Amino acid sequence: MITTELSNIGNIIQTQRYFFQTGKTKDVNFRIEQLKNLKQAIIEHEQSIVEALKADLHKPEVETYLTEISVIKDIDYAIKHLQNWSKPKKAAVSWDFFSYSAKIYPEPLGVVLIIGPWNYPFQLIISPLVGAIAAGNCAIIKPSEIASHTSDVIAKIIAKHFDPAYLAVVEGGVEASQKLLAEKFDHIFFTGGTAVGKIIMAAAAKYLTPVTLELGGKSPCIVDTDINLEHTVKRITWGKFINAGQTCIAPDYLLVNKTIKKDLIDGLEKSLKEFYGDNPANSPDYARIISEKHFERLVTFLKDGEVVIGGENQPSERYIAPTLIDNVSLEDSVMQEEIFGPILPIIEYTDIAEAIALINSRPKPLALYLFSQNKSLQNRVLQETSSGGVCINDTVMQVGVSSLPFGGVGDSGIGNYHGKASFDTFSHHKSVLQNSFWLDLKWRYAPYQGKLPLIKKLLG
Ligand code: NAD
Repeated sequence: MITTELSNIGNIIQTQRYFFQTGKTKDVNFRIEQLKNLKQAIIEHEQSIVEALKADLHKPEVETYLTEISVIKDIDYAIKHLQNWSKPKKAAVSWDFFSYSAKIYPEPLGVVLIIGPWNYPFQLIISPLVGAIAAGNCAIIKPSEIASHTSDVIAKIIAKHFDPAYLAVVEGGVEASQKLLAEKFDHIFFTGGTAVGKIIMAAAAKYLTPVTLELGGKSPCIVDTDINLEHTVKRITWGKFINAGQTCIAPDYLLVNKTIKKDLIDGLEKSLKEFYGDNPANSPDYARIISEKHFERLVTFLKDGEVVIGGENQPSERYIAPTLIDNVSLEDSVMQEEIFGPILPIIEYTDIAEAIALINSRPKPLALYLFSQNKSLQNRVLQETSSGGVCINDTVMQVGVSSLPFGGVGDSGIGNYHGKASFDTFSHHKSVLQNSFWLDLKWRYAPYQGKLPLIKKLLG
């Protein structure tokens, strides 16, 4: 473990401030070079990344490539568009400003802090880092201590390939996080739970530091009758049980039209068998729960409702089978907290209005899923609900589209990132207005006598 002495945190930040002041990171070519470095470093350490994620989460290699090392795509996208993003953009002026020109200059913020969670512990650190580098910042990174092997690999990669005056990793848990939060940063980018998000925002408020909070919550998945059942069950099974359900945008619970519920349960049972065999404990493609604490928390949910598929678990392996629970009540703990594991409760509705009312009675979710080909139903759900994002007739795939900003609303987060949104999140957009000297109209200058009629005309 490459440990940065916690007492040294102030020095690292100071060194980064000096480095930032040299202006080096303002050079777009420097940023592109650093993004290329980062890509090369990831490629060089691919095997260590795969092994670390296997050790932390028993993550199948395919999932590691699909959801962690795939962050290379973010780097390529940023490299491709960075020259354009970083150019000042002309802004329109109204006719009464005819002697002026207006432009918006994106400029880096300075030294930023990135704090990550354990569930996609590599990608959820590197992806915001791409935005921070692209926008021209220095960064301090605090990976999750709970995915300790991945935290180690990140620390090694960054220490080997980057000057700590530019990018540095601070490893550790709550203590390290709180030491960092006691310092002043120019932006804090946090991914984690809503409760800790509040602690981050309170700490940031002390210095008026802007924050991006990528939080969690209970993401509903509505299933209507107008669907292709075979595709629906596969897409739900994949999105829910990838990484053993430890995905911030996994469908948290199903809201199913009563008339299709039985078919849906049968279909999910079939697709689970196809994906993970008769006993998912033996499948090389099924992950494990990150820690004993989370395992214990999840096992208590199994007491709620009626388990219709799965329910088996092995504490020694932190294994919980893909599980469907029917007949849950909204007061059950499984319907009160974010599940964040391989347990999927089913709630039926007879009219879509009931499903919408249920969603609207709860904090705004990070994702909302709707399976339906019915256009008017799609529009109704889009119009009448609010969520960080929506994905229709699929799950989780919205996270892979670089042109779509990714983030929550209300309790599920503040701000967003991915693609250009990452660049914008880590930039200040400086408005610059320029006048010329060829004309100097007197209408705004004192003395004001006799000028009111003209001013009123201009406002009209
Ligand atoms: P967490 O909030 O417990 O921890 C996140 C980070 O905060 C870790 O690095 C941890 O060390 C630090 N931390 C924990 N307690 C702290 C404290 N008291 N003070 C300061 N720092 C502290 O989250 P987690 O358990 O690692 O991740 C799970 C949560 O993250 C879920 O709610 C999930 O939905 C959410 N999440 C959201 C996204 C997203 O993109 N919106 C992605 C992944 C996970």
